Amino acid sequence: MAVLTEKKKKHNFFAGPAILPAPVLEQAAAAVVEFDGMGLSLLEISHRSQQFVGVMDEAFALTRSLLNIPDDYEVLFLTGGASSQFYMTAMNLLPQGQKAGYLDTGTWSTKAIKEAKLFGEVIEVASSKEENFNHIPKGYSVPDDLTYLHLTSNNTIYGTQLQSFPSVGMPIVCDMSSDIFSRPLDIEKFGLIYAGAQKNLGPAGTTLVIVKKDLLGKVDRAIPTMLDYRTHIAKGSSFNTPPVYPIYVCMLTMRWLKENGGVAAMQKRNEAKAALLYGEIDRNDLFTGFAHTDDRSRMNVTFTMTNPEQQADFLALAAEADCVGLKGHRSVGGLRASIYNALDLSSVEVLVEVMKEFGRKMG
Ligand SMILES: *Cc1c(COP(=O)(O)O)cnc(C)c1O
Repeated sequence: MAVLTEKKKKHNFFAGPAILPAPVLEQAAAAVVEFDGMGLSLLEISHRSQQFVGVMDEAFALTRSLLNIPDDYEVLFLTGGASSQFYMTAMNLLPQGQKAGYLDTGTWSTKAIKEAKLFGEVIEVASSKEENFNHIPKGYSVPDDLTYLHLTSNNTIYGTQLQSFPSVGMPIVCDMSSDIFSRPLDIEKFGLIYAGAQKNLGPAGTTLVIVKKDLLGKVDRAIPTMLDYRTHIAKGSSFNTPPVYPIYVCMLTMRWLKENGGVAAMQKRNEAKAALLYGEIDRNDLFTGFAHTDDRSRMNVTFTMTNPEQQADFLALAAEADCVGLKGHRSVGGLRASIYNALDLSSVEVLVEVMKEFGRKMG
């Protein structure tokens, strides 16, 4: 199969769509040609076929076992991206006239707030907008009459991450698009978790939703069938044609996760990669970290050149060493290295070596 070998493959620091494990790409490529000895491609079989139903069942089972999801939660693979969850969550969970709290920690939170306002009252419990979202607000108070509190666990653009989740008297609704499966979770703290697949789970095209079933059915408004979580729960995410290929690749990634020790092992790997890279950012005067130290993300490492005029030269040197995807998001500028689950420590070692080399050159 013509998949790039580990040796030929570039060091992929893109933020999303992002790196996937090499064995996953190989199996995904093979399934396009022929799936499961069927004499057919995975792309040309019914989503109701026994073979594809097997894929769905395994995807659900792996999600449940990897994240230790209790029985009173449902797992869904939906479409529309994480962005559709900005309104679907509020539409399904927030009764008319009631309030939801939102912690504003970046572009994605801000977009979630805008959509939730269509359905009820939104209380912004705190925001770090004034400082371009370079930290996670602390010491804010959460009113106790909120239906839910919405958080973004990892702020992909700014490189900040909630190191732990607050204990509050209401369910947490959480956008985990860029750090799902990167660490163990206490699912009981959450009413609903959603994650677009294309950062840390699979290709673009499906969104994982984990929802506590008894939170649904409490709103009076009419919900279009396709936007009602209960529709998809009742039909095992196959009310309509599910995004078969993205779900298949997510399933392969979860198999890989399991074979590699699950989320606890990923947490260790991710901490080691982050420690190495932040260590160099802090040691090397040519670079400056963007996020407050306490809030640094273990998925998206944001930093700037102390002298911005050196950035183009640095990126050129990095490209020579096959490091790609390092340019920061336009709302922060500078550099961003995304170091998701599938990225090996050896790729971070190469990047750190480039940073050292650049330091020597600039002498
Ligand atoms: C990428 C991202 C989104 C948007 O995801 P789409 O699937 O493109 O809608 C939302 N939230 C976070 C935290 C993200 O990183």
